Amino acid sequence: MVQNKIIPKVLAIDDSELIHRLLEARLQGEDLELHSATSSEEGLQKARALKPELILLDISMEGMNGFELLDKLKEDTGTQNIAVIFISGTDEPMDKVRGLDMGAIDFITKPFDAFELKARVRSALRNQYLMRMLEQRAQLDGLTGLWNRTYFDNRLTQEVSEAKRHQRALTLVLCDIDRFKRLNDQFGHPFGDRVLKHVSQIFSGGRTSDIVCRYGGEEFGLIFPSTNIERGCEVAERLRVAIEAAKWSGNPDLVVTASFGVCDMECLEGDLTPEAMLKLADKMLYKAKQSGRNCVKCAKKKKDEI
Ligand code: GH3
Ligand code: MG
Ligand code: MG
Repeated sequence: MVQNKIIPKVLAIDDSELIHRLLEARLQGEDLELHSATSSEEGLQKARALKPELILLDISMEGMNGFELLDKLKEDTGTQNIAVIFISGTDEPMDKVRGLDMGAIDFITKPFDAFELKARVRSALRNQYLMRMLEQRAQLDGLTGLWNRTYFDNRLTQEVSEAKRHQRALTLVLCDIDRFKRLNDQFGHPFGDRVLKHVSQIFSGGRTSDIVCRYGGEEFGLIFPSTNIERGCEVAERLRVAIEAAKWSGNPDLVVTASFGVCDMECLEGDLTPEAMLKLADKMLYKAKQSGRNCVKCAKKKKDEI
């Protein structure tokens, strides 16, 4: 869910050691973590690995210059939202125009004044923080505070490709509250909302690495990285029991239940894609509904099938 404020990372890319020492001295005491790269290649690599909030980028460097490096940063979805301030040795207006048009947010001319440098860095970090907050808000579900469908889709794609690359397990759980329409009709929509919030709290009580999303109305998608189907099914079963056991103030006799469909990457045949995972988990969820609801149905591993 929403992350706490973290110390922002700033990456300085400049081929002059002197500039790095100056930046270090000037930015000392600021609420940031300063990293450095002394060539554009190292800078690009560090930008990808560290994902800093801000890059201070020298224009004239051997090999790839600052403009070319900015181009590379903007091409890559992992680095395109990093704020870039150019550090230029000249006050050349056409450099400024070019840099700003390419997506840099500011310009600092060497030799830089300490106060101005700090103020520009602070301003960039403030904007970046607000942008990240807005981005995150846009991916949260208003009612439950869980990640929303947009986030779920992106994250599943990302986790599937990570799991493939590192040959790690990945489990997907889809959950749908049983007879939810009837619950709304019987006890009112605000009560239905309360149920959704409480079920969300139950789902959020697991490992911090678990990714819990509201997939649709009364449907939830849970992504468990580095988790195989056996463990994923155990967790789903525990969640099912917790929902069934929940007490509802004002309606002491009410029992709310939910159905679950579970699969992991080893259950897929053919391509390992997020679409294939979703399809299989959904098929298992459908099976759970067909089997009388309030149960967990787990897909079989391909190698275990006869
Ligand atoms: P099944 O056991 O087959 O899943 O039956 P169901 O009634 O749960 O499924 P159905 O898809 O027919 O109904 C889902 C209901 O969820 C219909 C919709 O009004 C309700 N719903 C969707 N979003 C919300 C919400 O944000 N709040 C509330 N209170 N209800 C919602
Ligand atoms: Mg449904
Ligand atoms: Mg339902």
